[in-house]
Amino acid sequence: MDCQIVRTQLTAECSHLIGISEHMLAFGYCDANEQAQLDHIDVRLQTIRRALQRLDDGTYGICEVCGNPIGADRLDAMNDCSRCIPCEDKRNQSGHPARANAWPRRSVSVGINLQN
Ligand SMILES: [Zn+2]
Repeated sequence: MDCQIVRTQLTAECSHLIGISEHMLAFGYCDANEQAQLDHIDVRLQTIRRALQRLDDGTYGICEVCGNPIGADRLDAMNDCSRCIPCEDKRNQSGHPARANAWPRRSVSVGINLQN
């Protein structure tokens, strides 16, 4: 894994997102849809900044929960991820909303009978 390439990608995405949000804010108002988009951009920017911070710290590619290496395939697919797959799964199961949306788990409702 080439950290310099990852850093360049993350920095470019960061500038791109800041550009979009500045463009939207330049109009001076936001409807609910735009506000949702801005919130989404904000969350994404925080994620990217944390990934850049980990590149600086030398902890990039290490799971922040269990300390095991995050697989190269996973980092290729998601260059800002901070958790290995088992830890991400555990977090999703605990119902964290942002990641629950990003990683839909189709199996969640299977086998649950609400009518008891
Ligand atoms: Zn882990």
